[in-house]
Amino acid sequence: MLNFNLKKKYLSVLSNYSPKEIAPKKLSDLNLKIIDQIIKKDLSITIELYQEYDLDWNRTIAELTSGIETIGKLKKVNIIVTHHKSQPKPLKQNKKQFNHKLILVCSAKGGVGKSTICVNLALALNMLGKKTAIIDSDIYGPSTHHLLGISKAEPKVKDGIMMPYEKHGVKLNSMGLIVPEDKALMWRAPMLTKSLNNLLYSTDWGDTEYLFVDLPPGTGDVYLTLLKNHPNAEAILISTPQKISLIDVSRSIDLLKKLDIGILGIIENMAYKENGPMSEHVTNFAKERNIKHLGKILYDDNIAYYSDISEPAILQKKLNFSNELKKIAKLLMHNDNV
Ligand code: ADP
Repeated sequence: MLNFNLKKKYLSVLSNYSPKEIAPKKLSDLNLKIIDQIIKKDLSITIELYQEYDLDWNRTIAELTSGIETIGKLKKVNIIVTHHKSQPKPLKQNKKQFNHKLILVCSAKGGVGKSTICVNLALALNMLGKKTAIIDSDIYGPSTHHLLGISKAEPKVKDGIMMPYEKHGVKLNSMGLIVPEDKALMWRAPMLTKSLNNLLYSTDWGDTEYLFVDLPPGTGDVYLTLLKNHPNAEAILISTPQKISLIDVSRSIDLLKKLDIGILGIIENMAYKENGPMSEHVTNFAKERNIKHLGKILYDDNIAYYSDISEPAILQKKLNFSNELKKIAKLLMHNDNV
């Protein structure tokens, strides 16, 4: 935890540093990769450049070093700069026109089960005969590859187009697979937009009918502004039953409405425990805000257990979860008449 906080701090120094030759551009705007390692209290950083920049690197290194040293907690800071000869080839935009529905899976808060529902709902639709795929756009905590049991590795690129992974019949491409972890923390809006564009338009989604986008928690303005331009984008909200979480959901609804993104409905996750009480907060809220309540999902430790071992809970037939999600999936299919 200590190292994680420390890492956040020094990566922030690096990303916010603006060499005077290119100001107001920042280091994070350049075509480079940061490789960092802390051994005991010694930090080594390699800045790997994929392009030549006319900077005074000695001064840059000295300023970055003293910037990081002011954080404290480190004994030695060693920064080197290397030049990488071969630049990664740029991706192409897919020429094919896709007709898939884009389903944006949003939650106002983290930890409400957004990714779990996203993955299992894509599987549910697939089990009902639809071709489904997922984009995990959550740069801070991408987890869908783990939920599906896909190892972390960059997707193959064929003729400038990324080939998505496929598991249990569901395709996947993810920020977690295309963006190196060390870069994720220092990326800013334009880079995120570029990567999301690549996931959407430079991935071979084939004949996918429903493409789910697992969004980061919060309002995700950067992404939504881009996604609203997709002709078939609509959103699903995931919430827990607590009244307090609905205040934030309300904000998400306002933003979606402002951006003119249709809302398919709200899914109430961890809504009740077997034989436990069941609140009506979300049901009432949905009525008040004129939003469809798509379903209540049971709180069940088995769901967390199977997610953890990368065996999606919907594939466990004995669980109630499977029926609940298939019901919601059917609603979505009919919403094409919903
Ligand atoms: P988010 O994407 O909103 O951050 P996750 O999908 O990662 O949330 O879920 C957070 C945690 O809650 C995970 O450990 C997950 O396995 C667990 N979880 C999700 N839904 C349920 C549920 N209905 N019952 C029990 N645990 C759940």
